[in-house]
Formats: sequence, C-alpha cells, structure tokens
Amino acid sequence: MRYSVFSILNQALRGNTGWKPVWREPEPRPAYDIIIVGGGGHGLATAYYLSNVYGITNVAVLEKGYLGSGNIGRNTTIIRSNYLLDGNEPFYEMSLKLWEGLEQDFNYNAMVSQRGVLNLYHSDGQRDAYARRGNAMILNGADAELIDQDRVRAMYPFLDFDNGRFPIQGGLLQRRGGSVRHDGVAWGYARGADSRGVDIIQHCEVQGFIMEGGTCVGVETSRGPIRANRVGVAAAGSSSRVMEQAGMRLPIESHVLQAFVSEGLKPIIPGVITYGAGHFYISQSDKGGLVFGGDIDGYNSYAQRGNLPILEHVCEGGMALMPAIGKARMVRSWGGIMDMSMDGSPIIDRTPIDGLYLNAGWCYGGFKATPASGYCFAHLLATGEPHDNAAAYRLDRFRSGAVIDEKGSGAQPNLH
Ligand SMILES: Cc1cc2nc3c(=O)[nH]c(=O)nc-3n(C[C@H](O)[C@H](O)[C@H](O)COP(=O)(O)OP(=O)(O)OC[C@H]3O[C@@H](n4cnc5c(N)ncnc54)[C@H](O)[C@@H]3O)c2cc1C
Repeated sequence: MRYSVFSILNQALRGNTGWKPVWREPEPRPAYDIIIVGGGGHGLATAYYLSNVYGITNVAVLEKGYLGSGNIGRNTTIIRSNYLLDGNEPFYEMSLKLWEGLEQDFNYNAMVSQRGVLNLYHSDGQRDAYARRGNAMILNGADAELIDQDRVRAMYPFLDFDNGRFPIQGGLLQRRGGSVRHDGVAWGYARGADSRGVDIIQHCEVQGFIMEGGTCVGVETSRGPIRANRVGVAAAGSSSRVMEQAGMRLPIESHVLQAFVSEGLKPIIPGVITYGAGHFYISQSDKGGLVFGGDIDGYNSYAQRGNLPILEHVCEGGMALMPAIGKARMVRSWGGIMDMSMDGSPIIDRTPIDGLYLNAGWCYGGFKATPASGYCFAHLLATGEPHDNAAAYRLDRFRSGAVIDEKGSGAQPNLH
C-alpha cells in the first residue's frame, strides 16, 4: 500500500477502514538466503537495501524484542556528517545524502528535518581545529561554515556568550544536519523491506550459531533453528553477547548513554546546538520538549537505564551553555546500550568465520549512520566485497593498527 495524499483522502472517505498493517507478522521459515540478527535501524536498513538495491528478498530480520525497542527508538535523533578523518567523512556524507531522499525512497514520513547542527568553539585552538574539520568536510562534498560570535548571537541570543570560563567565540555550522523522527526510521525501513518480501520476525532471539565445518550456516533461536547462506549481525549494544555465541571476543565495550526531555515549551531552539567546552547537546522536538544529552555513564553495563550522577553532569553543561534551561522541568529520561569500539569508529566487515558478517561499534553516533550502514552492509552481504565508503571499517584494524581514532581518545571508550 503506497502512502500519498490520494490514499489519505480515499481513507478519509471510507472512515479509515482500509489501512493495512505496516508490516506482516510471518512465522519463521526453515531457511533463508540471508539472516540479519537485530531489528534495529541498521538491521532493518540492511534488509531494505538488500531487497531494494541488490534484489535479494529471501531475507529474514530476527529481533529479540519489538521493532524500535533498542537504540533506534532511544537516541536523540541527530544527523550530521561533520567528521574529519578520511575513513569516516565519505561514509557519513553518503549517509546524509541518503537521509535527504529517504522519505521519498521508502514512502514513509520520518520527519527528516535539516534544521542545522552548530558546534560551538570556546578558544582559538578549538576554532583552528573546527576550521580544519570544516575544510575536510568541504573537500568531501559536505557543507560547512565557520561562523563568528556575532552570527551565533544572531541565531541563539539566549546562550551564555560571556561565561567566565568558557565564553563562546563562534561555531562550526552544518546547515544540512538536523534531526529525524527515530522510530519512524525503523517503521519506514521495516515497511519497505516487508513490502519486497523480507520476513521481519519480532520476539525471536538468536541464542547460538549453527556451524558446519567451521562455516556459519544458520542460527539457533528462541523459535527454533533457521538456516541461511549468510548471517549478518547488527545487534548494536548486544554485539559482544551475540558474537560470544560464535566464540568471538570483540574489541567493544557496552556502556549506557542517557537522553533527557523537558516539558513542552514554545519554540525557542530552531536547530541543534552542541557545547564545545563539555559534552552537552540540545535540540527541541516538534512537540516542544527540549531533547538533550551528553557523556556516557562511564561504566560497562547491559542495562537500558542510567544513573543520577550523569544526569547532574549533563545538566551542569546545559546550565553553563544556556542558563535559562534551569527554569524548565525535566519530564523524561532513559538509557540505551552503546557498542563502544576501541577507536570510536564502527565495524562493517566479514568475520574470520565463513558466512558470518558483523556490523557493530556504532558508539553513540550510529543513528545518523543508519542509511549508509544499511547500504554498505547490504553491499558486503550481497557481493562479498566491502563498499568503497566503508572499506576502512575493518575488524582487523585493531590488530594491524590502522585505527580511525576521530576523537584522538585511544582505546578508552569512557573518554569518547
Ligand atoms: C540516549 C541515546 C542518544 C543517542 N543519540 C544519537 C544521536 O543523536 N545521533 C546518532 O547518530 N546516534 C545517537 N545514538 C546512537 C544510536 O542510537 C545507535 O548507535 C544506533 O541506533 C545503533 O544501531 P541500531 O539502530 O541498529 O541499534 P538497536 O536499535 O539497538 O538495534 C539492535 C537490535 O538488536 C536486537 N538484538 C540484540 N541481541 C539480539 C539477539 N540475540 N537476537 C535478536 N535480536 C537481538 C536488539 O533487541 C535491538 O533491537 C544515541 C543512542 C542513545 C542510547
């Protein structure tokens, strides 16, 4: 069923009795060409591009919970492509371009809103680093503008420009960045993949891998064994747990990241702002809530909830940047499990086990990557070769030393 103004009118005249479920609820079949483990954004996008671009439709996505129960439905919805390093920037710019055409492509309203992402700088050194980053972005075909304090003031007059410790000097602006309704992305990809024949199977936990002669030929699940020629794992915060079942230890730690939402307010923040002197970022949802977040909780955990010290830490960043935020009441917070890799960059690669492929290590930045990650993982699964824009995301880089350490924090996920 295609969504359009005509289908809305048609349904309005028929009392909205003709809408169909957005995807089917099929029983798992005994075998598929490809199984994707994890029905988050990346798993669903992979299935969508496998069916839509590579013509492979005999595919199942196995999700242990319900669609949207993981990070795809828990993130703070920011998209951008403001990266510096060669291994990253072409990939994230590919993703931003895919976001730009996504709603038309999968015929679903995901509320893609290119409202601009502004990274503030507070010192001369930070300005120079942002100038370098902006130049790298432009060289890779992305947009970037280094703006001074006057222009930031014109956009956001309520920020604390004269803060005693960290006065705002200016910012790096990416106008094409913005936000997207996160669960709409899961639903749109699910609907698009399902309509091409992909089986999306909820409440089906992968509990082991079926190995024959050292090759992965399927999975053991809570709903029985299912065979496949290739298995792709896209389990985000649970990647280590899932791959442990194949005897693999990943260069990944799982950490909690929290998000916070205030009561609904009149529109005050048109874009996304990030504080350069601490880890704090903020935007305003279409319903009026201020949506903000900051650092990970800083300890290993598989719990989808956080603790109070980081709440205080994030709110301190908010108060330093925008003192008026202290008047707003916070109404909601939640946590998600981050798959923190040892250089802060992701992995899209085959594994040493034939037939088993891995998509992981997204840290706290994997939402913006969803379209390119799905596309590149589908390319790898379909062709056996890495996509050009994801060629640096190799699993063996932690052994070879070819790491992509965008933040220069080294193998310390707690510092990323
Ligand atoms: C609070 C917060 C804020 C964030 N903000 C941003 C942001 O602003 N911008 C940005 O780019 N990124 C952000 N992120 C990061 C982003 O959400 C993640 O990197 C990304 O969503 C991870 O990929 P995914 O969508 O596939 O993950 P998920 O949605 O977590 O998908 C993985 C799925 O695998 C399933 N699974 C796990 N184990 C099994 C199993 N054994 N069998 C079957 N299924 C299994 C899980 O149930 C889950 O549904 C944020 C994350 C959080 C938590």
